[in-house]
Amino acid sequence: MLRALIEADDKKVYDDFCWGRDLIDLVIDHPAHFQNAGEFISVLKKLQPRLYSIASSPRAHPGEVHLCVGIVRYETFGRKRGGICSTFLADRVAEDVRPRVFVHSNSAFRLPENGDTDVIMVGPGTGIAPFRAFLEDRKATAAKGRNWLFFGNPHSATDFLYQEELSSFQANGALSRLDLAWSRDQKEKIYVQNLMVQNGAELWEWLKNGAAFYVCGDASRMAKDVDQALLKVAEEHGELSPDAAAAFISQLKKEKRYLRDVY
Ligand SMILES: Cc1cc2nc3c(=O)[nH]c(=O)nc-3n(C[C@H](O)[C@H](O)[C@H](O)COP(=O)(O)OP(=O)(O)OC[C@H]3O[C@@H](n4cnc5c(N)ncnc54)[C@H](O)[C@@H]3O)c2cc1C
Repeated sequence: MLRALIEADDKKVYDDFCWGRDLIDLVIDHPAHFQNAGEFISVLKKLQPRLYSIASSPRAHPGEVHLCVGIVRYETFGRKRGGICSTFLADRVAEDVRPRVFVHSNSAFRLPENGDTDVIMVGPGTGIAPFRAFLEDRKATAAKGRNWLFFGNPHSATDFLYQEELSSFQANGALSRLDLAWSRDQKEKIYVQNLMVQNGAELWEWLKNGAAFYVCGDASRMAKDVDQALLKVAEEHGELSPDAAAAFISQLKKEKRYLRDVY
């Protein structure tokens, strides 16, 4: 079976096989002969670092870096599994252990230099991380531009990240608009991109007014759906043809007013 998989040389077939399996599954299903544990370890690839968006502004928390980590847990092939790094942080790291970290800076995903510029942020799930930092920073610098956040997750009762902080940002005016998409709280699934389309007239008005548009989170579905929603808003509310709407979005990107950090 393994030989057929390799000979097929088909990435999709290969990815489908790997999904939900780890090395132990492979070794159990296809026992291989190693002289000793050392020889087994020597054929393994080094653990790769995991990246996490910084979820705090140094102006609000000097000397600290906050992260917002979603813990990966799932069950496949009759065994409970956990993501290596997220469960390390959640379950195994001891108080006195200092995990090794490094900063990988992304100069392409920054707040506008001019604090008067409005900011639209789309960050469902852990995609909210940089936007919590943005909001803290905009408040700390008393930026005058408006801030609009689209956030979403399956359930409001259990998955409302930074709920209290967002309420207080709303109360003190740092967050001008908050739109929430709870995909599993009702029969019909609602996602951030649906709320963008529902609020398309206002979204278009913000964009025409010079707002910067940010997206963070899932690259596989969400970022593409948000891109489509943006096109729809430009077509419907900007009364643009599909080609002109696409050109408008390209122009936003050129002006660095449409920025994404998706994974
Ligand atoms: C630029 C960037 C920024 C990021 N920012 C954040 C952030 O702010 N917060 C955050 O939480 N993450 C963030 N991530 C993702 C993060 O780096 C890790 O990928 C994530 O935490 C999972 O790592 P892990 O070691 O826990 O899981 P891993 O051990 O890497 O396991 C993940 C793998 O498990 C498998 N898997 C997962 N779910 C299932 C399932 N249901 N069924 C079958 N198989 C499954 C898949 O093969 C998946 O690739 C970011 C990634 C990038 C690239």
